[in-house]
Amino acid sequence: MDLGITGRKAIVCAGSKGLGKGCALALAGEGVEVLIVARGRDALEATAAEIRSATGATVHTLAADITTPEGRAQALAVFPEPDILVNNAGGPPAGDFRTFDRATWIAAIDANMLTPIELIKATVDGMMARRFGRIVNITSSAVKAPIDILALSNGARAGLTGFVAGVARKTVVANVTINNILPGLFETDTMLSRIEAGARLGGVTFDDAKDARLRTIPAARFGTADEFGSLCAYVCSAQASYITGQNLLIDGGSYPGTF
Ligand code: NAP
Repeated sequence: MDLGITGRKAIVCAGSKGLGKGCALALAGEGVEVLIVARGRDALEATAAEIRSATGATVHTLAADITTPEGRAQALAVFPEPDILVNNAGGPPAGDFRTFDRATWIAAIDANMLTPIELIKATVDGMMARRFGRIVNITSSAVKAPIDILALSNGARAGLTGFVAGVARKTVVANVTINNILPGLFETDTMLSRIEAGARLGGVTFDDAKDARLRTIPAARFGTADEFGSLCAYVCSAQASYITGQNLLIDGGSYPGTF
């Protein structure tokens, strides 16, 4: 299926590893020119080289912290008029909410709520004027089924979700869609380090902690970044113009509800 986005320009935030990388690779595979942003230059350049060689697409890199105004300005300087924006950043730390002070909350809200909102604000009007735009926010299945030790993520991402629900109904008239993709458990650096931390706290081995996680997933496996990227590319496709304001779970069946 040709997704109809060849030649489009995409900013993929936090795109050197994991889910962001999966999105960048899938978009590049559709002929999209991508800018990947991440802080660490080595992984960024290695990922860009890998995507170029796999797809032949033009891949730009920016070593910057997307959660800072400077980082966002630098990204927008490379692509002032992106057609596609994938909002992503590292998730906030896990822990007992009693231990989180105001500064910790502000950092989480900055990274996982206000950064995507600032980037949407900077790009959405141009997209509407050009009559094409696709904005995808990588959030978490914890938005739909909150996890107690992820209080910072639950709160900050729920704030973004509420914001998107309002705006996405105002932009679709100009063929600009805004959607959230909610990952369940995907085998990435972040997820593996969380399992490792959980194993240490619980006094069990890494393998036992990993098996315990796997047993919670009806698909009996973790998701892959390629699967995540494929969904993202579809949501960014020309064909997906009638999908907006949605929270799309991709979790191997983990969420138990009917809706
Ligand atoms: P990952 O594999 O560890 O990759 C994180 C990526 O984000 C890296 O490229 C990292 O590069 C970049 N990054 C982090 N902070 C950044 C910043 N401030 N500015 C620019 N780039 C930044 O993580 P992941 O599993 O793909 O997770 C992506 C998001 O999905 C996170 O918010 C995570 O909480 C959420 N999530 C993941 C899962 C899962 O199962 N994997 C489930 C639910 C939610 P640098 O460190 O070099 O900057």
